Amino acid sequence: MARLVMKFGGTSVADIDRIRNVARHVKREVDAGWEVAVVVSAMSGKTNELVAWTRAAAPMHDAREYDAVVASGEQVTSGLLAICLQEIGVNARSWQGWQIPIKTDNAHGAARILDIDGSKLIERLGEGQVAVIAGFQGLGPDNRIATLGRGGSDTSAVAIAAAIGAARCDIYTDVDGVYTTDPRIVPKAKRLDRVSHEEMLEMASLGAKVLQVRSVELAMVHGVRTFVRSSFDDPADPRLGDVDNPPGTLICDEDEIVEKQVVTGIAYSKDEAQISLREVADKPGVAAAVFVPLAEANINVDMIVQNVSEDGTTTDMTFTLPVADFERAMSELEKAKDKIGYAKVQGSRDLVKVSVIGIGMRSHAGVAASAFQALAAKGINIRAITTSEIKISILIDSAYTELAVRTLHSLYGLDAA
Ligand code: ADP
Ligand code: ASP
Ligand code: MG
Repeated sequence: MARLVMKFGGTSVADIDRIRNVARHVKREVDAGWEVAVVVSAMSGKTNELVAWTRAAAPMHDAREYDAVVASGEQVTSGLLAICLQEIGVNARSWQGWQIPIKTDNAHGAARILDIDGSKLIERLGEGQVAVIAGFQGLGPDNRIATLGRGGSDTSAVAIAAAIGAARCDIYTDVDGVYTTDPRIVPKAKRLDRVSHEEMLEMASLGAKVLQVRSVELAMVHGVRTFVRSSFDDPADPRLGDVDNPPGTLICDEDEIVEKQVVTGIAYSKDEAQISLREVADKPGVAAAVFVPLAEANINVDMIVQNVSEDGTTTDMTFTLPVADFERAMSELEKAKDKIGYAKVQGSRDLVKVSVIGIGMRSHAGVAASAFQALAAKGINIRAITTSEIKISILIDSAYTELAVRTLHSLYGLDAA
């Protein structure tokens, strides 16, 4: 019999009534003949609360104990959903990551899945038992619980789908698919029927948190058919059981998309910071002197802009980084001041990166130019720009986030009628 993975995010399991509703979605698929593995997140807000507790206990704490604490939210929901399933006559049991086991690397707090032994799951599914799996967690090489980074239950789901050879991985969330941009800030955003893996990867890594980046990578590598759909639909609605084409967004290979748009979506990522070094010597080795100490401190630098100097002696160097790393970066640069040799360092914190994404950009000129024009017409100042084959990213002051996203959304014809 064909296997199906169903993943439910935090808002979908926010309380007992919603967990009951999830149980009805699961029962529908079981009744339709699927062997079902369910992956659940913690109740919404729970993981934030647990993270805050670890910080309150000690701002600098042992990452293995952080994992022991924050993984607990998923343990609760997996047990509760198994109970609700049993209540409506569905044979089900809960599984923690270590029981499967889902093996990860040792990067506690942001671990990567290395291997999943699907054999025990496959055996139980074959006996007609639904597996309710705690997402977001696995077992590290040190034999301790490891978590997969925020939003990691998506990755648990896709990895399990690959491990058990599931025909599909349905990601149930609080929106009914992937939209042209975050529907919470642009009410005119449109739902996309299909998005290519490459575009979804860019959208996720540029801020659209509807799927964790790593889950899209895994779906692409393992060819997992991933659907994003809503858990708030009525589980009894007959349209939801459509085997081949359930309502939602399919993440698929580019060649499955018939009508390619120039621009598919707009993403934004808040909490960006910018640092500028003024009057840096314009000579070989300077970029290394700036960025090697930052890399050694595990600070992820993103956009880098270096001006060409007029007189060949000094230049300005600007780069962006996550705001959470701002203080540490400033102190690393201060320490390396003599080695780098700059006149002064300036920083801004309240920034946002807005990105325009589309595979059609590969064969279309002028997409960036029209974005710059449209933002200029709204009086929005651009602080930095980066581009790749299928995206343009623009750094602006965060006060203009909504205006910029809405402006670009209309500019590229993405607004719903
Ligand atoms: P879950 O708890 O189910 O994992 P998330 O909050 O992680 O849900 O992701 C769903 C949210 O992602 C939506 O509520 C929406 O606000 C946000 N989002 C951001 N960009 C997009 C987009 N392009 N399409 C759909 N949702 C998006
Ligand atoms: N509960 C975890 C989080 O909030 C994992 C997830 O929801 O995917 O990040
Ligand atoms: Mg999520």
